[in-house]
Amino acid sequence: MINPEQILNRMNRDQKINYDTVLQKMIRNWKESEQRPKILIHSCCAPCSTYTLEYLVQYADITIYFANSNIHPQSEYERRKIVQKEFVENFNTRTGSEVGFIAADYEPHVFLKRVKEGQLQDEPEGGKRCTACFEMRLESSALKALELNFDYFGSAITLSPKKNSQHVNEIGLDVQKIYDVKYLPSDFKKNNGYKRSIEMCKEYDIFRQCYCGCVFAATQQGIDLKMIHQEATRFLDQ
Ligand code: SF4
Ligand code: SF4
Repeated sequence: MINPEQILNRMNRDQKINYDTVLQKMIRNWKESEQRPKILIHSCCAPCSTYTLEYLVQYADITIYFANSNIHPQSEYERRKIVQKEFVENFNTRTGSEVGFIAADYEPHVFLKRVKEGQLQDEPEGGKRCTACFEMRLESSALKALELNFDYFGSAITLSPKKNSQHVNEIGLDVQKIYDVKYLPSDFKKNNGYKRSIEMCKEYDIFRQCYCGCVFAATQQGIDLKMIHQEATRFLDQ
């Protein structure tokens, strides 16, 4: 299976990389060599996984990996996990696909330790705390991909216009160097991917969260976490 570095080495790395182009070239290589890779795609809640799945299942066998110990409170983590799992099941039923679903354990202390050690509590959304958060989740995805013999690990986060996909891809490529497992670069928001994800959220009646996930960003944003907990608990009790 092609390594993204083979494509990136032929591009001018001093300029902004179009990671959608990299993905297209990788897909072309799979098609030419009649390969269908096994890919573990990290996702932090259902919306970003919608178009990502619709697109990737054409070329690869996909498993969604829900590994997001950054999410607070735990009730919200459980709600997003269930919504993600249900979306994968509904997607499989409607499209005849066989997308897998794996959830990691909820280990908030791992995230909180990283934030505390780096003194990242007061960082703005999009700053250094988010870098540490992406690293944690991409490392976890790489380790799971290695353990289960996936050909690649990647992330649906690049669909979100609120996330810096250049940065996410750079972290993914750094993680690939450390863990000896190939990263799948992407920019799923391109080619109307984000627009299609909004349509799919309506089609599948998917709940959209109002904050990214951690207690720090939620507090900065003025989110009422007690209310979030109550809503999530009501959802879980249904
Ligand atoms: S980036 Fe935001 S919308 Fe996308 S999956 Fe993660 S939490 Fe959900
Ligand atoms: S704002 Fe989102 S990406 Fe940034 S640290 Fe919090 S949960 Fe992670």
